[in-house]
Amino acid sequence: HMPTAELQALDAAHHMHPFTNGDELNAKGARVITRAKGVTLTDSEGNQILDAMAGLWCVNIGYGREELAEVAARQMRELPYYNTFFQTTHVPAIALANKLAELAPGDLNHVFFAGSGSEANDTNIRMVRTYWAMKGKPTKSVIISRKNAYHGSSVGSGSLGGMTYMHAQGGMPIPDIHHINQPHWYAEGGDMTPEEFGLARARELEEAILELGEDRVAAFIAEPVQGAGGVIIPPETYWPEIQRICDKYEILLIADEVICGFGRTGTWFGSITMGLRPDIMTIAKGLSSGYQPIGGSIVSDEVAAVIGSGEFNHGYTYSGHPVAAAVALENLRILEEERVVDHVRDVAAPHLKAKWEALSDHPLVGEARIIGLMGSLALTPHKDSRAKFASDAGTVGLICRERCFANNLVMRHVGDRMIISPPLVITPEEIDTLIARATKALDECHAELKE
Ligand code: PLP
Repeated sequence: HMPTAELQALDAAHHMHPFTNGDELNAKGARVITRAKGVTLTDSEGNQILDAMAGLWCVNIGYGREELAEVAARQMRELPYYNTFFQTTHVPAIALANKLAELAPGDLNHVFFAGSGSEANDTNIRMVRTYWAMKGKPTKSVIISRKNAYHGSSVGSGSLGGMTYMHAQGGMPIPDIHHINQPHWYAEGGDMTPEEFGLARARELEEAILELGEDRVAAFIAEPVQGAGGVIIPPETYWPEIQRICDKYEILLIADEVICGFGRTGTWFGSITMGLRPDIMTIAKGLSSGYQPIGGSIVSDEVAAVIGSGEFNHGYTYSGHPVAAAVALENLRILEEERVVDHVRDVAAPHLKAKWEALSDHPLVGEARIIGLMGSLALTPHKDSRAKFASDAGTVGLICRERCFANNLVMRHVGDRMIISPPLVITPEEIDTLIARATKALDECHAELKE
């Protein structure tokens, strides 16, 4: 390799990074990751870094699995590309769709492939509107989502998302997308109990449907557990009430499983953990453990029957890409054969939960919550009041993230919340290392704030 400084200079000269302030990046230089194995990244300086984010919540199986490389090479030699348009198909897409129908809950038996989670959510926007139009109800086009949600970066999926700082750039949201409040008790629950607050926030869906008009609302979309919004685990009352409302008003429920899917919450899908009956699930990330770009929408028998009764004028060059599909299938085989989801439920999550929740004793931490292998810490200046730092612009979160990095730990910050989502194959010993490094980073951050 070239020296790090040279790589950084070339990077700064020609590479535009997602979700990154270019000036800040150029001033500091990007960290160059060169290799990875298991849960550990190696950078160009030789540092060994524990990746408690599994990349971007995606490397569920861990890094460096030779089987996936071999399957990719074999598939590239045999059939590197073919499409699934115009009545053609190929074996990897057939096999993967059948496997997903087997794994997905309820009657979610049909898969429309995409290249990413953003693309899959764009598919969902068009699919639910087309569904209602084909059922003779073309006015049902409004999709209700939540503030602070992340559903992707394309114009469609970014509109579904509820991040106003994203909407401010590039003309989002598109028409007929409506956002209700999120069930974020810690930040917004006031004097209510979590249970009361969960119900109140779920009932905002009913209020929105009545306000917009039942005949206009097509679908509600949400993550079973909101990830990029800050790992917001809803109160127990929330999802049963949302499901009741969707059933009552015949609103399609779209569960965005891009993060929660494929074992993250300790079952195969967040919908199973939360007891939901979605009509559509968005999948990506853990589907291939990030080894290949692939996503999709898994839809119910009913939705597939209606959409399939005509031509759905939608699709991507890489829908069901044979190499991505073959790699995803091999990833699912490993998850099943090595009983990785059981490992999360029975070994990793219980071990992590005890230690993670104990971090709430730290002077900087107001709340430590975790479900399966996705967790968050709310950083606060006053432990007992759920107070925010004056800026709430994530200044403290950023300091803490940098302290984590300096201690060879990748943790992410969302405002002043620290979040984790490690590879699902993480061992108890690696969890102990994660906790030790996180504690040290919190101590250092706390000391820095006092200075
Ligand atoms: N939906 C959720 C819940 C996500 O977290 C993400 C990405 O982080 C997406 C959709 C978008 O997926 P992609 O980045 O593959 O387009």
